[in-house]
Amino acid sequence: MVGKIIHEHDVLVVGGGLAGLRAAVEAHDNGADAAVVSKVYPLRSHSVAAQGGINAALGNNPGSKDDSWEKHAFDTVKGSAYLADQDAVEALCREAPASVIELEHWGTVFSRDNEGKLAQRPFGGAGVPRTCYAADRTGHNLLNTLFEQASSRGIKFYNEHFVTSLVVNNNKCAGCITIDIQTGELHGFSSKSLILATGGYGRIYERSTNSLINTADGHALAYRCGAALKDMEFVQFHPTTLYGSNILITEGARGEGAHLINSEGERFMFKYAPEAKELAPRDIVARSIMEEIEKGLGYEGEYVYLDLRPLGAEKIKEHLPGIRQIARDFANLDPVEELIPVQPGQHYSMGGINVNIDGETNIEGLLAAGECACVSVHGANRLGGNSLLETLVFGKKAGKRAGSNDRESVRLSNVKNVLDREQERLETIFSGKGENTAALMKEMKKTVYGKFGIFRNEEKMHEGLNNLYRLQKRYSGAGLNHRGKKYNQALLKFLELGYMLEIAEAVAVSALERKESRGSHYRADFPNRDDDSYLKHTIFIKDHKNRPSITFSPVRSGLFPVKERDY
Ligand SMILES: Cc1cc2nc3c(=O)[nH]c(=O)nc-3n(C[C@H](O)[C@H](O)[C@H](O)COP(=O)(O)OP(=O)(O)OC[C@H]3O[C@@H](n4cnc5c(N)ncnc54)[C@H](O)[C@@H]3O)c2cc1C
Repeated sequence: MVGKIIHEHDVLVVGGGLAGLRAAVEAHDNGADAAVVSKVYPLRSHSVAAQGGINAALGNNPGSKDDSWEKHAFDTVKGSAYLADQDAVEALCREAPASVIELEHWGTVFSRDNEGKLAQRPFGGAGVPRTCYAADRTGHNLLNTLFEQASSRGIKFYNEHFVTSLVVNNNKCAGCITIDIQTGELHGFSSKSLILATGGYGRIYERSTNSLINTADGHALAYRCGAALKDMEFVQFHPTTLYGSNILITEGARGEGAHLINSEGERFMFKYAPEAKELAPRDIVARSIMEEIEKGLGYEGEYVYLDLRPLGAEKIKEHLPGIRQIARDFANLDPVEELIPVQPGQHYSMGGINVNIDGETNIEGLLAAGECACVSVHGANRLGGNSLLETLVFGKKAGKRAGSNDRESVRLSNVKNVLDREQERLETIFSGKGENTAALMKEMKKTVYGKFGIFRNEEKMHEGLNNLYRLQKRYSGAGLNHRGKKYNQALLKFLELGYMLEIAEAVAVSALERKESRGSHYRADFPNRDDDSYLKHTIFIKDHKNRPSITFSPVRSGLFPVKERDY
């Protein structure tokens, strides 16, 4: 690996998904020279897979005429099991209508109602129909729109560049190092501000709806250089993923009227959430499905059925064409006539890099936005449709803040030094003894899924954490035999595994620390919510001796008093 190529930009965005692109556009529009680095072509970011929709209190649906940002905020805070920071939720919900309309003006083709207004469908945990959508391909539409906006502004893209480390000195971020995947060359990037928008870490789990590229890179990069991670124990399991492949079957299906059915043919959600039924928040529906399966009321001890037939053929074809296609291609069935086998699967990471409302971390010049960040608007459980919204609202804020950063140009020598160190690190990897990283990866996923899944307890989690330590040890002695420079996928997988093992530990340690049940974090040994002891955020950060440590920070409330959740 030779080459000392250094690029300089005011703002460098790592991530070409919705949060990254929205941030880059805003930084550019604030006068900054912004560039985007992405390990895949931006349109392959996981945002493209978002199906069901994006929330905004537009009040277009006859059932939501008197909707307001306050109602949206209340549903979000209640859904979060009161762990969300209410000032961040206020920003999210107040700015939602303008954010959605902006994307519509930029070209997103939203589905419309009979009057020609943006259509809105019901979603879980929402009091009224509030979710705007583009059939069941909302992310695809939004991402193409933003990519066009960024491209037409002449924003520079470094596609297929994989970030291997950040350049941080004295708690100040000066840029990052990448591998150009095509050539294998290392590049240095120097920037006044760097925004991480690297998405979720779902692939630390077996059974995930996430893309294969969602491997915790940004979380680990930030954590390694001293940034704090927040609320890492809160991992969302989506109730309905296709049995076998765990491809997502959008909540929009239940929003449109689909039913969940157990092996007795019973619509079992009546028992668990008599009011909201299938449209209770995801944590509740996912646990209910698992309970049914554990009681022997599932099929083959593995799944229940989602019945789309009550919608009728026309509605399925018009509003859920992608779901019908997925069912045909991956389960060989047509949901117009047949039931879809579904089981819960990992879906979203509520926790992430700790940021303030403007996206700033505890490292100067380092910001984060989107799923990799925790601002926090989702608390212990995210409502469907709020994540796409978060990428737009907080991507914009981070871009604005970064774009107006007038830090003196950062020292290039720092970037050059780290570039040299990275070169040496890669040489060490190439000279290490070959360990089967695919096997390590498999074991990690199995451990994380088995020990830190929907139902948790102290004993299982200790076993899981010890297993992760063992895997980390094996990884630290491992190396690669495949030294090829061009498109060395083995090297990328190796580096991603390192990120994931580190972040799996963050999830595990944080989950052990929270001895209560709240939202997605359910502990069979502490089944109740304990506001007296745990109405606070978990902070996972390196201590002054560079060891992982846990502290807590208060929840910012103010809009809505803390209450029990009922649905
Ligand atoms: C199947 C599915 C359906 C969903 N549906 C909905 C929905 O209907 N509504 C909703 O609100 N939410 C939905 N979500 C959640 C939502 O889509 C995501 O949270 C959101 O799109 C994340 O956007 P992002 O910009 O933060 O990250 P992503 O879109 O995941 O982008 C991450 C970017 O980071 C880059 N990157 C990562 N690591 C590196 C590295 N080391 N070097 C360089 N680049 C790197 C990648 O190349 C990529 O461009 C869904 C999620 C899934 C998985």
